[in-house]
Amino acid sequence: MALKISFRRIEMFKNIETGKIYDVIIVGGGPAGVTAGIYAARYALNAVLITKDKGGQMGEAGYVENYPGFKRILGPDLADKFYDHLSEYKVPIILDEVVNIKRTNGNLFVVETALGNQFKTKTVILALGVIRRKLGVPGEKEFSGKGVSYCAPCDAPLYKGKVVAVVGGGDSAASAALLLADYARKVYLVHRRDRLRAQPFYVRKLTIHPKIQFVLNSNVEEIGGTKTVEWIKIKETGEKIHVDGVFIEIGSDPPKEFFKRIGVETDEKGYVIVESDQSTSIPGIFAAGDCTTACNMFKQIITAAAQGAIAADSAYKYVIEKFGKK
Ligand code: NAP
Repeated sequence: MALKISFRRIEMFKNIETGKIYDVIIVGGGPAGVTAGIYAARYALNAVLITKDKGGQMGEAGYVENYPGFKRILGPDLADKFYDHLSEYKVPIILDEVVNIKRTNGNLFVVETALGNQFKTKTVILALGVIRRKLGVPGEKEFSGKGVSYCAPCDAPLYKGKVVAVVGGGDSAASAALLLADYARKVYLVHRRDRLRAQPFYVRKLTIHPKIQFVLNSNVEEIGGTKTVEWIKIKETGEKIHVDGVFIEIGSDPPKEFFKRIGVETDEKGYVIVESDQSTSIPGIFAAGDCTTACNMFKQIITAAAQGAIAADSAYKYVIEKFGKK
């Protein structure tokens, strides 16, 4: 069981040409970005994928049981398979963060990165995913990496025989709790409401699991300990629950500041508004995955991958139309 994504294949691509003009630059390395890379390569587009992590949310997910072809697979293991597939197509992958995208005087875009690189491209596919929320309570920052975790598959083995809490009531919290229950002696699932919003499939599994205990109508007010996490304090009751680790799974937000900077139109929450061909308000910029309004806002690995495929298809058509036959 691989608990971290192997970066072996990514390191194969080091000779990145900054002077050339790409057909498409894919920003983000989750399921939408990787699928866009595979499809772009199959269309013989000159593509490059720029990402600051490998796998996005998928790379930090617990057990995935609804991606066809895999009855049950850990998120990082599925991400490994995505990258393995992408490596067949030799799409260059750059580990960097895109900080801005500007139009040139002509029909091109300049993509600027945190490491100071600039890349010219005919089209861009935004597949940035979302940014995890923080609880924002005392102790969260201080104990980050010392008992506070945001990645169940990365850290679950550290809690063999121990007691942990998962905070949140969505699919991510449910999936993390079920994974942690494979290792920990006891898992508290702390949720602020009286019922979870997770899929009924998850709720049934959690309810009958002998190691999982719900702590409902409860907010974590503080995380405490000495060197590492020792307890969480519940706001409503004042109770301190002994735990060795806390996993924060309270959802995510789109990278709205970045979208504002590049001037792409978003909805009121900051998700990029896309048409059915994944085009955005800026001609030549497409978007795919969790950062968009697509697929009725249904955020799944399968919908992200589908959007990545459509975005690459649309980028291909745009390149042919605006720049002529390849
Ligand atoms: P989510 O669905 O937005 O759920 C976040 C949960 O955290 C909610 O229960 C929310 O409470 C709670 N929460 C938010 N802010 C909080 C705060 N400050 N303090 C305490 N609790 C807080 O996020 P997610 O679970 O990460 O899922 C995101 C998307 O990915 C969803 O569309 C989900 O279906 C999808 N996903 C799918 C799978 C799968 O299919 N296997 C797995 C993971 C994620 P309220 O309920 O009160 O709002």
